[in-house]
Amino acid sequence: MSPGLPDLVSIREVGPRDGFQNEPEIIATGDKIALIDRLARTGIKRIEATSFVRADVIPQLADGPQVLAGIDVPDGVSMSVLVPNERGLDNALAHRDRFHEVGVFLSASETHNRKNVNRSVEESLAGLDRVIPRALEASLKVEAVIATSFGCPYEGHVDPERVFAIVRRLIDAGAGEIGFGDTTGMANPVQVGAFFTEAIARFGDEVLITAHFHNTRGQGLANAVAALQAGCVSFESSFGELGGCPVPAGATGNIATEDLVSMLHEMGVQTGIDLPAVLDAARAVRDLLGRPLGSHTLVAGPVDWG
Ligand code: ZN
Repeated sequence: MSPGLPDLVSIREVGPRDGFQNEPEIIATGDKIALIDRLARTGIKRIEATSFVRADVIPQLADGPQVLAGIDVPDGVSMSVLVPNERGLDNALAHRDRFHEVGVFLSASETHNRKNVNRSVEESLAGLDRVIPRALEASLKVEAVIATSFGCPYEGHVDPERVFAIVRRLIDAGAGEIGFGDTTGMANPVQVGAFFTEAIARFGDEVLITAHFHNTRGQGLANAVAALQAGCVSFESSFGELGGCPVPAGATGNIATEDLVSMLHEMGVQTGIDLPAVLDAARAVRDLLGRPLGSHTLVAGPVDWG
């Protein structure tokens, strides 16, 4: 291990949801199932499989139930699904035996939340006050992701105190994990270091704190190091650097799982993940999509010290 860094971090693979949702192509259900089954055999212990959003809103994930029914993942791999609201939770609960965790979300900024889910932040929190306890009743773990935690493409600066007030509400509602999302890639490492230091000091004893960075402006891995040095031990990433976001248009996706794993291992931080196996999965999705992906390690290969 390196001084000041944790020995081990946990990575949730979000490519099958955050990635597939934001790719222009609709990936065939059988291909999704094969990719998830492959990812579940890389040592990754947490995978976000799909979401239960309206098919007319996100047609890329309309086959969520079929994907959940078809996957064959080893014991010990925790599957999660994203639910936007109570109806989404109801639809997910019809397949309760196929997953272990739910993700819920809102944005820290009013305008982003309004554009994303057509609700005020307060309306989203009121909804989550119902959704989270119901998920807990179904013995599900709940991660609440706060998008635009570090900046909003419409409003600019987002006050960390505003984000932390939302965290308090989500913890009080029963969330066991809080994900801080840099959905549109506005965060910088200095900001991230200060933010996670404060977030962990305030809430680290109560909930798992997770970092969700996008590589929109190429700063995703630098932000991950800053969060790591602040004590964050839980990250989300996407194989192949799949994903993106409608704002800004054409933006790249989440940090690539294989880039994150490669960097962490080189720094002496273990993940329990087999890098060549993740690279195989990233190669498979690149071949399926038929175009280059943002991942760097997929191009360069693992570091070889000879
Ligand atoms: Zn994301």
